[in-house]
This record gives sequence, structure tokens and C-alpha cells, in this order.
Amino acid sequence: MTATLEPTAATDAPVETFDSFNPANGDLVGTHAVRSKAEVDAAVARAREAAAWWGSLSFDERAEHLLTWRSVITRRIAQLADLSHRENGKPHGDAQLEIILAIDHVAWAAKNAKKVLGPSKVKSGLLMANQASTVEYKPLGVVGVIGPWNYPVFTPMGSIAYALAAGNTVVFKPSEYTPGVGQWLADTFTEVVHGRPVLQVVTGLGETGNALCTAAVDKLAFTGSGATGKKVMAACAENLTPVIIEAGGKDSLIVDEDADIAKAAEAALWGGMSNAGQTCIGTERVYVHEKVFDSFMIEILDQAKGLRAGADEGAKIGPITMPSQLKIIQSHIDDAIEKGAHVALGGSDAVGERFVQPTILTHVPETSTEITEETFGPTLAINPVSSMDEAVELTNATSYGLAGAVFSKKQGMQIARRIRSGMTSVNSVIAFAGVPTLPFGGVGQSGFGRIHGPDGLKEFTYAKAITRQKFKPVMMLTSFERTAKEDGRVAQLMTLLHGGKQTLK
Ligand code: NAD
Repeated sequence: MTATLEPTAATDAPVETFDSFNPANGDLVGTHAVRSKAEVDAAVARAREAAAWWGSLSFDERAEHLLTWRSVITRRIAQLADLSHRENGKPHGDAQLEIILAIDHVAWAAKNAKKVLGPSKVKSGLLMANQASTVEYKPLGVVGVIGPWNYPVFTPMGSIAYALAAGNTVVFKPSEYTPGVGQWLADTFTEVVHGRPVLQVVTGLGETGNALCTAAVDKLAFTGSGATGKKVMAACAENLTPVIIEAGGKDSLIVDEDADIAKAAEAALWGGMSNAGQTCIGTERVYVHEKVFDSFMIEILDQAKGLRAGADEGAKIGPITMPSQLKIIQSHIDDAIEKGAHVALGGSDAVGERFVQPTILTHVPETSTEITEETFGPTLAINPVSSMDEAVELTNATSYGLAGAVFSKKQGMQIARRIRSGMTSVNSVIAFAGVPTLPFGGVGQSGFGRIHGPDGLKEFTYAKAITRQKFKPVMMLTSFERTAKEDGRVAQLMTLLHGGKQTLK
């Protein structure tokens, strides 16, 4: 990815552009404009106008457009998967799987926005029994979305589809590593909703993202690294623009002594190595009960036979998308080995110029960066623990809190509840991401706010409360005509209602 100056054919005026490259071989994939602050502001202004129209449609009308878009994406899934494969490097099948999940979310958001966000009656309580109360959720207006490259369809779609279904228009800044995928999404949406800039893309680098943060957007949904998330928050603070931060993680997979070892090993291997380990909710640490540690290691190493990174058909692991990440992966592996970790597979030599071969380390000191920082490569740190208490304690001994998994026949749910993270899968890995009704997001350094599900729809709205007086109140409390006698009566009523011993009945 480089930035250059090129004249445009139409005006000969220099327009800054950047290129995206295939990380597997360095081939040029596409050239895109670096959108300036003025261009971003103009896109947001167009989105504001379009929001007046899009927001005025009924939930059903918006759902119809979104479901048509869903069908277009589904019919052209091979085309989008190919583009994602070329820009991100992930194998075609993995690219398709990611798109399938995103399609399901578009459909869910479209079909459920009315039920979740439409007006609903709520109880008014005894004091206000003369009022009819309703709550409904209104669109904010224009939502800015900034996305990463690791899941260039699924990740931003968690914000885009839910924001659109809630009645907002969207200006999307895709990662500079996957701009073509972002443009593809906006182009296909435009085919469905002609002539209305309901979903626009502004391509560019970090500065374009910063311009979106300081533009007149009503909310900014950011997915990316925590370091950039802090800059995004600071920039958004200028206009008191609310933000959602979906940042990184250091998820663990816990294996109890009664777990199905083969299934747990399969999940750890896939959770750690798929997408070349470049998954925010990927497995980076594994804590295995010491009673089954040896059998778990035999199983996972057996399953890892033949698993390799490469660009050919047989390789199930693609390249490292962002070249600068190679150094970080190398440093985590080296730091762990230096501090005493055992190499079970791969190791320091696993890091090549574009690809990293699967690496499994055991007995990794808890102080090493392989345990404390997001590695974002196909590596697993597998450590034995003496109890599930220890597994939970070590899992929670991180500033991150995104997701995780537990393998246990008897105690899966109890262990899951004790993990300080936004999402946990019991006896599977990453399953929650494919359940559209579940909220997605983290705590601590993994960020805040939720996409997906009813919470994800509400995230892009504001709550509107309305009371309608049905009849004259017995005591008119909100009036200067209120008498001392009425004050006494209301005090008596409160004593009756709330002065006694608390009971939940
Ligand atoms: P990144 O932070 O480098 O970039 C993310 C986006 O922010 C890109 O579009 C980039 O252009 C933009 N950006 C850069 N500087 C900016 C600035 N100053 N202001 C505004 N925008 C700016 O992250 P990345 O490398 O693209 O993505 C990988 C990270 O994303 C990992 O940490 C991963 O865990 C995280 N991630 C989190 C989730 C989640 O849902 N929690 C999902 C996917 C990825």
C-alpha cells in the first residue's frame, strides 16, 4: 500500500491515490483516491440530505431495499470472495464463509428493526397511572463507519447493516488494505438504491479516517486497533460525537479435564490459525487442565500435520495481510522462546517474507508478549493449569476482554460466566459471531458499544420516550395549584408503596 500523486484524466489536477496489493505475491489489485477532508465533509453533507429521505421510509420499505441488497451480494458471492481473497490474502473458502455470515446479519437487521425499534407501550406505574407511555428508537442521522482489513466484509457490515436498518445513512472508510471490498459493497448498494447516497465509501489512509471522525457525523463506529481507537475517540471528542470502539483481543480457549479433547484441539487449531490468526476474536492463548494437557498436545499436533501457509490450493492459511505485522509476530515468538517457552510446532523460523507457518508454543511465561499482547498471527500459546479457577484467573489477567471459548462437559456455562469478556462460546469456537440475535463487542481495552442483535440496532438510534395523558390525575402534582393536603396525601402514598420492608413479590 503506497500513496502517490497522479493526474486525473478529466481535469489534469493532481489527485492523491494509493494502491492496494495482493499480500500473497505483491501484485497490484487496485488504485483508489485518497479522499481529502473537504471530500469527506461533502460526502457527509450528501449523506445528511439522503438521511431525510431514508429516515422517512417505513421499516418495511427500508427492509425491502436491504433484503434486495442481500440478494445481490448472495448472487455475486464468488466475485466478492475473489476480491477479498486478492486484497486480504485469505483462502477463497474463508472469504466466502465471512460473506455468508455478513449476509445473514443484513437479513436479520432488515427483518427485525421494526420489532426492536418501533414504538412499544411500557407500564406507567401507580403514580403516573393516568399516562400512556411509549418508547421508540429514532435514527441518529449520519453514521461514520471505519473498518479494518482482517474481515473486510463481516466486520464493517456489523455496523453498516444495523445502522442502515435503523434508518441512518452511512459514510464508510474501509481499510487502506481492502479498499476495493469497501467500494464493492457501496457500489452494489447503489445499484439497489439508485440516485440516493445512502451508503457511500470514502477511500484513503488514516487521515481520511480522521476527517470522518471530525466531520458532522452523528455517531462513529470504529473497528481496528486500540491505538487507533484512542485517536478516533480523541478526534470525535471535538464535536461530542459518540463512538463505538471494536478493538483487539487476546482471547483464550479453556479446556477442562472432562472436555472432548479432539473437538477442543480442532477448535483451538482453527480459532488460532484460520485467517492466518488475524482475527480479533481468534484464539491466542489456550489453558488446558494439567490432567489432559499431554493428550491435548498429542491431539492438536496430530491435527496440525499438513496444515501450512501458502498461496497454492492446498494451503489453508493465507499470507499476513499487513507486512508490518510480520515483525510483531516474530518478536512475540522470540520473546516467548527467550523467556523459556517450548516450541511444539513452527518457531522463530516460521516467519517468512509474506507467510507465517503455524506455530505452537507451550509453557509460555505469562509475562511474555505472546501472552500479554495481541499477536495477530497463526500462533498459539498453550499452557497447563492446575484447575479451572486458575484458567479463569489467567484468562482474566489481561487488559483486553473481547471473547473466548470453554470446552467442558459439566461446567461450561459456569466457567463462561466467570470470564470477563463480551462473548464466550461453550464447546465450540467463535459461534456467537454467527448468531445475529447476540450482541458483539468487548470490555476494557477491547472497546465498548455493541453491534449485532437488538443491542446493535439500538446502538445506532436514540431512545424517544413519550407520555400521553389519558385522563386527569387524581392529584395534580405538576401544578402551582397543588395544596399542602395533597403533599400530605402523596407522602402517605409513598410510605405505603415504598416505606415498608423490601420484597420482590
Ligand atoms: P487499524 O487501527 O490500523 O486501522 C483501522 C482503520 O482505522 C483503518 O481503516 C485505518 O485507515 C483507520 N485509521 C488509521 N488511523 C486513523 C486515525 N488517526 N483516525 C481515524 N481512522 C484511522 O487496525 P487494522 O490493522 O486495520 O485492524 C486490525 C485490528 O482491528 C486488530 O487489533 C483487531 O483485533 C481489530 N479488530 C477488532 C474487531 C472487533 O470487532 N473487536 C474486529 C476486527 C478487527
